[in-house]
Amino acid sequence: MIRITQLKLSIDHTPKDLERKIARQLRLGNTPFTFEIKKQSLDARRKEDKKFVYTVDVSVKDEQRIAKKVNDNNIMLIKEKPYEFPLTGTETLQHPPVVVGSGPAGLFCAWYLAKAGFCPIVLERGEEADKRQQSVERFWRDGVLDPDSNVQFGEGGAGTFSDGKLNTLVKDTFGRGQEVLRRFVEAGAPEEILYQQKPHLGTDILVDIVQEMRRQTEAMGGTFRFRSKVTDLLFENSTLRAVQINGKEEIPADICVLAVGHSARDTFQMLKQRGIYMEPKSFAVGVRMEHPQSMINMDLYGEEANEILGAASYKVTHTCKNGRGVYSFCMCPGGYVVNASSEPEMLAVNGMSYQARDSKNANSALIVTVSPEDFPEEGPLGGIAFQRDLERAAWKTGQGKVPVQLFKDYRENKESTSLGEITPCIKGEWKLGDVRSILPKEVGDSILEGILAFARKLPGFDRDDALISGVESRTSSPVRIVRNQELESNMGGIYPCGEGAGYAGGITSAAMDGIKIAETISKKYRNF
Ligand SMILES: Cc1cc2nc3c(=O)[nH]c(=O)nc-3n(C[C@H](O)[C@H](O)[C@H](O)COP(=O)(O)OP(=O)(O)OC[C@H]3O[C@@H](n4cnc5c(N)ncnc54)[C@H](O)[C@@H]3O)c2cc1C
Repeated sequence: MIRITQLKLSIDHTPKDLERKIARQLRLGNTPFTFEIKKQSLDARRKEDKKFVYTVDVSVKDEQRIAKKVNDNNIMLIKEKPYEFPLTGTETLQHPPVVVGSGPAGLFCAWYLAKAGFCPIVLERGEEADKRQQSVERFWRDGVLDPDSNVQFGEGGAGTFSDGKLNTLVKDTFGRGQEVLRRFVEAGAPEEILYQQKPHLGTDILVDIVQEMRRQTEAMGGTFRFRSKVTDLLFENSTLRAVQINGKEEIPADICVLAVGHSARDTFQMLKQRGIYMEPKSFAVGVRMEHPQSMINMDLYGEEANEILGAASYKVTHTCKNGRGVYSFCMCPGGYVVNASSEPEMLAVNGMSYQARDSKNANSALIVTVSPEDFPEEGPLGGIAFQRDLERAAWKTGQGKVPVQLFKDYRENKESTSLGEITPCIKGEWKLGDVRSILPKEVGDSILEGILAFARKLPGFDRDDALISGVESRTSSPVRIVRNQELESNMGGIYPCGEGAGYAGGITSAAMDGIKIAETISKKYRNF
């Protein structure tokens, strides 16, 4: 295979243009060839002449001679090693593996275990996706929260109601990252996610994709049980013998994959009581900020709208005088701020978008790292106590609704009483108030300094009527469930997995960790 990198074409090029460019680069004349796009990124540094930059793999007869003839640093011969799932286990399982949680980590773990013949049982405390969608919309409309089926909990996990950004910083050494994208495509996602620099799957299609992956897993022998909260783990000589559901039913189990996500606070409490070794972990907290998407497009593309490129996205960071870092996180172009709470009288926000990313506002979390020193109590669950304090304050400030403040009032430490030109794009009821008062002083000050710094890169970022809502507290897990070389916890048969366990941050890296755990189980145990 011949790989060509740095192929630049104007953003309005046709597929034919790309084909012609490849033939010219390789001096192929009329020699027939096929090609596959491996990467597409955007170069918008020259706003008046924006380019797509491609990496393509070309199949053509006599590739060695051709590659040698052109002699170009951006043209090389490659041999891709396909992903391989290990089926080498020899030990016997008495019972099918139990997977707790159907978020990306649990879902992908179960899919690969089912394909390998392990007949996994997936236990999910929330509802199946379509019922869950109704519960979430009821919450956003009437404020009626279902503590087990909401934006954090239910089929597909926290990622289902999201902007579905699929890029990850995790190195893809074993090809698990591409596997994740391939699975999504096989379950109905658009093929472009395989090569886009910033692939994303809006909530409207994610809901269908997770259900299709469930159907595929069931067809391969897996079982899903919803409204099935794991309330206890039962051990004999520090080795798992059963899991308990909903406070009563017991399911015998040799192994259990704990893919419970970052918001399963009651489950973390139970794990602590059961002697599972956990540590407090740093994460980040802050607010979500909204600007007109047209302003962000102008800042990044030099035009208010571009049909080919869609809504522009930004990533900004700043190191404050106090030494703390402030950075944008989970930016949602053409998206919505969402009430992502999961506990009564506590309020947390996050962001989502639909596939079209066509709301009039851009939003992003602006967050500051906090560490165990900042937590109000020692021990593994100190971070949860920190989150709860913030979320209680946010709930009070908004009187149960999402509190919203204009930037000028945030800057002047004043409560907001009226909007400017920008109106909120929020899923859930909202109320004007004083968001800055919710935050620890150092966090609030750092965010202010950050916003002023970001405005130097993105003109208008600090406009008076930009909107700030809060509190963004669920950016990653506040705990790490320690696992050893074999990826097992200190208690036998327990495999901590995904974001909640502290080994992932985001949809793709959580799914990659799910595959990693499935591989580990299949390397140790024989399938059914
Ligand atoms: C609104 C929102 C937007 C986001 N946007 C993005 C984005 O654009 N891109 C991105 O990469 N990431 C995004 N994220 C983060 C991403 O969703 C998570 O990183 C990812 O879902 C973590 O996957 P996971 O499988 O480890 O955990 P989760 O997805 O949290 O899944 C855990 C599952 O376990 C279940 N569970 C918990 N306790 C129990 C129990 N005791 N018994 C049974 N089941 C249980 C839960 O109900 C849940 O379904 C977003 C998150 C939110 C909330």
